[in-house]
Amino acid sequence: MTTPRVRKIRIAGRRQKMNFTILTLFPEMFEGFRENSIIRRAAEQNIISLKPVNIRDFTADRHKTVDDSPYGGGCGMVMKPEPLAQAIRQAKQNCPQAKTILMTPQGRRFDQKLAEEMAGEKSLVFVCGRYEGIDERIVSLMDAEISIGDYVLTGGELAAMVIVDAVTRLLPGALGGADSAAEDSFSAGLLEHAQYTRPMTFEGESVPEVLLSGHHQEIDKWRRENALIRTFLKRPDLLKNRHLDIWEMEILKKWRSEIETIIQNQTVSGTDSLSGRQQKRSDHCLGCHQSGSS
Ligand code: SAM
Repeated sequence: MTTPRVRKIRIAGRRQKMNFTILTLFPEMFEGFRENSIIRRAAEQNIISLKPVNIRDFTADRHKTVDDSPYGGGCGMVMKPEPLAQAIRQAKQNCPQAKTILMTPQGRRFDQKLAEEMAGEKSLVFVCGRYEGIDERIVSLMDAEISIGDYVLTGGELAAMVIVDAVTRLLPGALGGADSAAEDSFSAGLLEHAQYTRPMTFEGESVPEVLLSGHHQEIDKWRRENALIRTFLKRPDLLKNRHLDIWEMEILKKWRSEIETIIQNQTVSGTDSLSGRQQKRSDHCLGCHQSGSS
């Protein structure tokens, strides 16, 4: 049997800090986000910088107007192009290599693969829309349009936070263990295995024995098989698109033969679902359920 495969994420050639710039009408929304957990630690360790910029600062009028009614009529307001264009150009001037990303429900769906691609960039500028969205003429200034899912949020800020969080986890040194992110769900194309901590028994349910064995190879094998079955049960679509390795094929074949045995046994004898009595499968026939028919 071949050794189970564990894919390690390496963001090629990354040495320098990742700069996230967020263009938003609500910079204060990012205060709690950047003062906690992994984002704060990554900033302290100079792995990332996170800079929310207020689009309103790029308005030219006394009222700092950022929106206007839509041409052609209709409800809601649209974000004006001039302050946005100014804010984007300023951000690009500060980080010339930056990629500009528009947060929009109409964009490419964000997933782990895209997070890995984005983690290879040097700088990212996120444009967070509000109201009915932004003036279409700003879209040509963007490198990409990204959605975090098929639903509509009130603004792009939460979407930008989701992406900043997912990308930061992938940067070397951002998580405690060097390879922690490589074991996460989706990183190796599977869901992650089940996790347990103390106590050993909780409300009558015990931790799988192998995890207490201290036998690292056996633990690794159990985790790989557990990840495979969880993926099969919860997200079979991930397996359909996966190039299975020999070990995974062997495991799937083992389950297939076990499932076939269960089905074969059912065709010989099964449980009468109404009475709970065991009876011969051959006794069943459609339309033959009158009493005394057997
Ligand atoms: N009228 C727009 C539409 O139907 O496509 C939706 C506008 S939404 C109320 C306001 C802003 O929230 C958008 O401009 C975008 O920046 C952000 N937003 C909403 N849903 C999003 C999603 N699923 N992913 C990313 N950003 C989203």
